[in-house]
Amino acid sequence: MTSSSFLIDTHAHLNMLIPGKVRDREITNQEIRDLKNYVENARNANVNLIINVGTSYIESINSIAIAKEYNSIYATVGIHPCDVDDAPWKDSLDQLAKLLPQAAEHKIVGIGETGLDFYHKPFDATIQKDAFAAHLDLSIQYNLPVVIHVREAADATLDVLKSYAGKVRGVIHCFAQSYDFAKQVLDWGLVLGIDAPITYPKNNLLREVVEKVPLDSLILETDSPFLPPQKFRGKKNEPAHLTYVVDEIARIKQCSNEKVIETTMNATLNLFSLV
Ligand SMILES: [Zn+2]
Repeated sequence: MTSSSFLIDTHAHLNMLIPGKVRDREITNQEIRDLKNYVENARNANVNLIINVGTSYIESINSIAIAKEYNSIYATVGIHPCDVDDAPWKDSLDQLAKLLPQAAEHKIVGIGETGLDFYHKPFDATIQKDAFAAHLDLSIQYNLPVVIHVREAADATLDVLKSYAGKVRGVIHCFAQSYDFAKQVLDWGLVLGIDAPITYPKNNLLREVVEKVPLDSLILETDSPFLPPQKFRGKKNEPAHLTYVVDEIARIKQCSNEKVIETTMNATLNLFSLV
């Protein structure tokens, strides 16, 4: 066990912590600098790296801008399944894809978030599947991991992923599926992203999955500003709160917090090629 282990929040939307409606425009340098408190709070909680996830063209551009300001932040680029219906997603993804040959310069470490969401209505399943496949193709082309969102679309997600089995690496973000689903995607070489819903009293299903799967198949996320830990419910989440996810996983796995931190850190550094 090394004492240099640290936490990595592999899924945050710091841009959504900026006050006001900033989801449709480029954020300003001042707004980016104002995020400093969240970055410092994170560091004080041993959360030394944060991956800021893009969900649309503009939010991917904002993710890159945030990553370029802070040493401890990286970015992913992609179009969220809830954003593909009402936007020309192909044009947006093409624009983002132009950045990928210089991924390192832009601090882009992954593709997404993409996936399928049949919960938010109305939705177009065909468009979502096409967009998901396009992200998976980019992930292979540029050898970058993919960040996958799944909501009320478990079977359809497996259907799309099946033909990419063994070819893509990535994470099922904010894992909330069955153990059978988990087993299948782990078989295909993906990992599971675990968030603070694991602290929610009613979430025995997730706790059971985490108990059964190997610790090194898990990485940690906050999905800030969403999904705060139980004791902060109703408030905005932030990367510093990742420690509550660690506490709960250590309790379930009956191991030390250090073991959870070191194992998830190594899995994350490996998946996102951060070393
Ligand atoms: Zn997200």
